[in-house]
Amino acid sequence: MSFIQLPRSVVSCRNLVGGSWQVPPGAAHLDVRSPYTGTVIGRVPLTPASGVAQAVEAAKAAAAAWKNTSLRERTQYLYRFRQFLERDLDALAQLAASEAGKTVAEARAGLLKGMEVCDFALSLQNLDTGAHLEVSRGISCEYRREPLGVVAGITPFNFPAMVPMWMFPIAVTLGNAFILKPSEKVPLTACALGELMCEAGYPAGVFSVVHGGKEAVDALVAHPDVQAVGFVGSSAVARHLYAEGCKRGKRVLALGSAKNHLIVVPDADPELTPQAVVDSFTGCAGQRCMAASVLLAVGNVESLLQEVVRRAAKLELGPGMGALIDRGSLDRLETAIARAEAEGARVLLDGRGHKPQGEPWSGGNWLGPTLLDGVRPEMEAARRELFGPVLSIVRVPTLSAALAVENASPYGNAASIFTTNGGVAQTVVEGVRAGMVGVNVGVPVPREPFSFGGTGDSRFGHGDITGPSSLDFWTQVKKVTRKWSARTDGSWMS
Ligand code: NAD
Repeated sequence: MSFIQLPRSVVSCRNLVGGSWQVPPGAAHLDVRSPYTGTVIGRVPLTPASGVAQAVEAAKAAAAAWKNTSLRERTQYLYRFRQFLERDLDALAQLAASEAGKTVAEARAGLLKGMEVCDFALSLQNLDTGAHLEVSRGISCEYRREPLGVVAGITPFNFPAMVPMWMFPIAVTLGNAFILKPSEKVPLTACALGELMCEAGYPAGVFSVVHGGKEAVDALVAHPDVQAVGFVGSSAVARHLYAEGCKRGKRVLALGSAKNHLIVVPDADPELTPQAVVDSFTGCAGQRCMAASVLLAVGNVESLLQEVVRRAAKLELGPGMGALIDRGSLDRLETAIARAEAEGARVLLDGRGHKPQGEPWSGGNWLGPTLLDGVRPEMEAARRELFGPVLSIVRVPTLSAALAVENASPYGNAASIFTTNGGVAQTVVEGVRAGMVGVNVGVPVPREPFSFGGTGDSRFGHGDITGPSSLDFWTQVKKVTRKWSARTDGSWMS
């Protein structure tokens, strides 16, 4: 069985600084292991603060000239980058899948979503033409959008291509020099994106890649020349970076963890609903910030739940569902399942110990779909983000009780309602706190230009990471008021 092609040899990742690929001096290195097999597929440097400073300096030099190019000119580079993405889609999907543990189809979908953000950025020259108004006779006001300078994006492991592409196509097209600090767990895809940015001809230093972990992140956030930081990852880090960045007067938009609820009521569509539920909690092996984590079963929905169990049990690990990122995640999830059981949950479907047949996969981090029934709202399985293919079923008597459970969560990324009744759907759309709401959609990711972003502990800062509000995040809006008086004094005038 072969459902994924791992890189043929170990990839040595380097930083992209000032247009050239470099090993940061003094860096320790980490192995990058494929979640599918546990084999080493790459090595990544952990850039020290001195290496971050070099990258910021090169980016700052590039930003000065890049700022003076026109939006139309900057757009031409992005056209080329997008074409190369399309050309290399299959190879990039294999690479992202092999390091993140995704299926190739999921990795491909993430790349396509990244291309959608490119399309949004490519349309800026038509969408964002600014505003100009004659406010009184001879006096006009104008909005001018100006880049910030050097900006940074710090990204998580679960979408090695898509999450960086939530940020850099927009930030760079708006005239900033962008430094990407990808997750040290998935650095290979970031390097491949960097290669394509170089091939697209971006001037040296406009796009940089700096690998590393906490030290590199702390150095970026502390650097006085980094004006804005986009972050996507866990809430603990998001909250910390937001505070650190704001303390230094920077702009920070930090997206965090999630605990997404699906509300299923008795009139839910019996065909659509079970498949949407299964896809939502098992897709990406549950390692999506939009994955279903809690199913709020309102009243008697037994036949729907039985169908969820039946369909989830049929999923084939490997081609149908990928692997967990690392051994630590697998241990954490197995412990959480055991704890839920000890607290009184009933395991309807147990994914522990499952793995695909055959030798190459025995070293992978596998957990099959797991369904826990009878979970109470106060239990860990109902409250904490588990980030794996585990769905906790919480029984509630009414829709209001379901909304109360959803809204008690400190997170607020996504929530969905499954119903055939428009009034019920509207009650949930209006009543939930989550930033992204689905009606009969299990993974309610808005398509661009509708923007992506949650609320509560799932987002620190204002606005969304994509869509119209991202323009305000990555730029400064200058307001110009002009007054011209008609001159009549010169003889050459008349
Ligand atoms: P993570 O927080 O461990 O890592 C994210 C980034 O922060 C990485 O680049 C990492 O190197 C860096 N980092 C890790 N620890 C740090 C520290 N102590 N100080 C400074 N930097 C640090 O997250 P992850 O495990 O890579 O990703 C999974 C998490 O991301 C989940 O919680 C998931 O819900 C969340 N996520 C959220 C969204 C969203 O849109 N809200 C999208 C994707 C993932």
